[in-house]
Amino acid sequence: MIKLTFLGTSDAVPTAERNHTSILMEYNGENILVDCGEGTQRQFRKAGLNPCKLTRILITHWHGDHVLGLSGLLQTLSFSGYNKPLFIYGPKGTKEFMKALLRTFAFQGKCKIEVEEVEGKFFETPDFYLEAKPMTHGIPCNAYAFVRKDRIRIDKQKLKKTKLEGEILGKLKEGKDVVYGGKKYLAKNLTYEEKGNKISFVFDTSFNPKIIPFVKDSDLLICESTFDSESEKRAMEYKHLNVNQSANIAKKSKSKNLVLTHISQRYSKNPKKILEQAKKIFKNSVLANDLDVLEV
Ligand SMILES: [Zn+2]
Ligand SMILES: [Zn+2]
Repeated sequence: MIKLTFLGTSDAVPTAERNHTSILMEYNGENILVDCGEGTQRQFRKAGLNPCKLTRILITHWHGDHVLGLSGLLQTLSFSGYNKPLFIYGPKGTKEFMKALLRTFAFQGKCKIEVEEVEGKFFETPDFYLEAKPMTHGIPCNAYAFVRKDRIRIDKQKLKKTKLEGEILGKLKEGKDVVYGGKKYLAKNLTYEEKGNKISFVFDTSFNPKIIPFVKDSDLLICESTFDSESEKRAMEYKHLNVNQSANIAKKSKSKNLVLTHISQRYSKNPKKILEQAKKIFKNSVLANDLDVLEV
């Protein structure tokens, strides 16, 4: 199971209800933070989450509303004795920004901060991978995808009827037929394929032709929606998406669910307006609020 906690859902200016952008994704020992707007570490506390479990941070871009929480978070990790390597990934320029950020205060952390500027597939385990795609936002900016791979599972009911156990099960999981006690067992008869999941993060970009192929078939498309449907021209001018574009991206990419975030303060009295406009184009839309939790 993949658990997502929306730590912040505002755009450039926070409101009483919405903190700056940040999402924590927990999966199988990995705690991956996507962006770290100002105040993110307090949002961890409010959500009852422990920042010391962090393994990786993905930075979409270096506008303040996505990164100004980094120094405070690093300071807290250092006080808390965080001593694992912390991997920070971002677009071109991230190494320079990180160097400058660590010069703005006396960081005394013992953890090794590993900074990587990424594009394409950049981290992979046998179970999942992370991918980055440059977007168009006036400064270097990445969209990200987390992909849990399809995997072969053993059908426990069918396995009960055999005497197979131990290491030989590993072979079945690799899709290989096995011989045991003079009898041949076909992997296809004892296993089934469990489909993986894809979660895509598209924050801060103007509409561009790279988005739809990159987020194709997402189970969850988490997408900025800074402007309402009447403001497509303004969205283009400020290199953001409006809600019609976000919903059309979900529809055309054949994504299963759309989560709208990066919500402007101008809709703070009526955020449902954005959701209603999205639903006219893409039914499976939800609007993220701070501290919402979603499980995939
Ligand atoms: Zn932003
Ligand atoms: Zn931005």
